[in-house]
Amino acid sequence: MVSGFQRRKGAEVDFSWSEEERQLKESIIRFARRELAESAIERDRMEHFDRDLWERCARFGIPGLPFPVLYGGQGLDIFSTVGAMEGLGYACRDNGLLFGLNAQMWSVQMPIHRFGTPDQKERFLRPLCEGTLVGAHAMTEPASGSDAFSLSTTAVREGDFYRLSGSKTFVSLAPVADLFVVFATVNRKAGFLGVTAFLLERDTAGLRVGNPISKLGLRSCPWAEVFLEDCLVPLENRLGDEGAGATLFNDSMEWERGCLLAGTVGAMERQLEDCVEYAKTRRQFNSPIIRFQSISNLLVGMRLRLETSRLLLHRMASEKASGKRCRELAAMAKLHISESWKQSSLEAIQIHGGYGYSVEFEVERDFRDAIGGTIYSGTSEIQMQIIADALLG
Ligand SMILES: Cc1cc2nc3c(=O)[nH]c(=O)nc-3n(C[C@H](O)[C@H](O)[C@H](O)COP(=O)(O)OP(=O)(O)OC[C@H]3O[C@@H](n4cnc5c(N)ncnc54)[C@H](O)[C@@H]3O)c2cc1C
Repeated sequence: MVSGFQRRKGAEVDFSWSEEERQLKESIIRFARRELAESAIERDRMEHFDRDLWERCARFGIPGLPFPVLYGGQGLDIFSTVGAMEGLGYACRDNGLLFGLNAQMWSVQMPIHRFGTPDQKERFLRPLCEGTLVGAHAMTEPASGSDAFSLSTTAVREGDFYRLSGSKTFVSLAPVADLFVVFATVNRKAGFLGVTAFLLERDTAGLRVGNPISKLGLRSCPWAEVFLEDCLVPLENRLGDEGAGATLFNDSMEWERGCLLAGTVGAMERQLEDCVEYAKTRRQFNSPIIRFQSISNLLVGMRLRLETSRLLLHRMASEKASGKRCRELAAMAKLHISESWKQSSLEAIQIHGGYGYSVEFEVERDFRDAIGGTIYSGTSEIQMQIIADALLG
């Protein structure tokens, strides 16, 4: 695979795809059109998670893209993975399914890959790549959201076990998950230094998942509260060292912020194509509406947002592929892509007029889905804080 570093030609950065990467992206587009196209409207309306579609994605290799072949993955570098996920986002109109796959890849599989023991990788990473397990990430609590490390779920060591007590909320995929990455503190007074991560299997005694909670968008990816009532977790299910949970969380958030929205960049391309096509064919006042500058200017804004989002995404992937930390760049990518997707989705409704507002035509769903992107993995305000902190030095 070509690394980000090798992509540099002289002083310039070459963002073009290799033939191999282009073929992979095209094969994912064909797969998504063939296998994932049906009943996206229905799944959104019914808030239905379709495990069969999930398994089809896993058989195609999607959740395993950047993970080692040794543990059931495809062993791709991050640049190729991001390109493949763009292809998926372009062709799969079910943003909820796309979000669920990404949430698992970056906030469940990635920390196991980077911090897990060989035994944990064999027991959990392999089946997550293969689609036989679904994984969820449980950090947020009713009283701790943006200030994640002020969490109050406790983990008390008892011999070869930890006893976990507390509750988590807004846990994506919780209603269908088989495995949970749970964050708890072994010492509240130690602040972030007490935070520790654990792998909890769904049948752990004392673990209870609440009913799915209805939400505005990404409705085919259900979420719920998770209650931990004296859960005994064996030592071998601690992920990383005791007290290393904050490092692990920050690491996986950097991956998630940087990569999760690759699919969104693909979706923005699809959305723009749909809008251009509509504006060319919809006629008012004896003219295609694209001839009205108010409409074409909206399309220009969408085009610019797509291009700048893609550049930031590829720049971030290129840095990651060369092994660099990129906390600030990941925050910029997350902030810019999610806010761009929200704005373009709003304008797509305007371009489609009443048809855009109707749920029958799918245009409004992108807008509902896009709002979630400005909240999960840290809100836009938190991304701005990260970027401002970097400016302060
Ligand atoms: C679609 C979706 C999926 C999610 N999936 C998961 C999941 O799988 N697992 C999980 O653990 N969590 C998940 N979350 C929860 C998400 O991580 C939190 O909602 C997010 O971190 C914000 O926390 P909060 O909702 O408690 O809001 P709060 O932190 O209470 O924030 C409320 C408002 O105050 C602002 N604010 C807070 N602090 C600051 C500050 N320092 N400076 C400026 N403004 C600030 C926020 O930006 C926001 O506008 C998900 C959320 C969404 C929307």
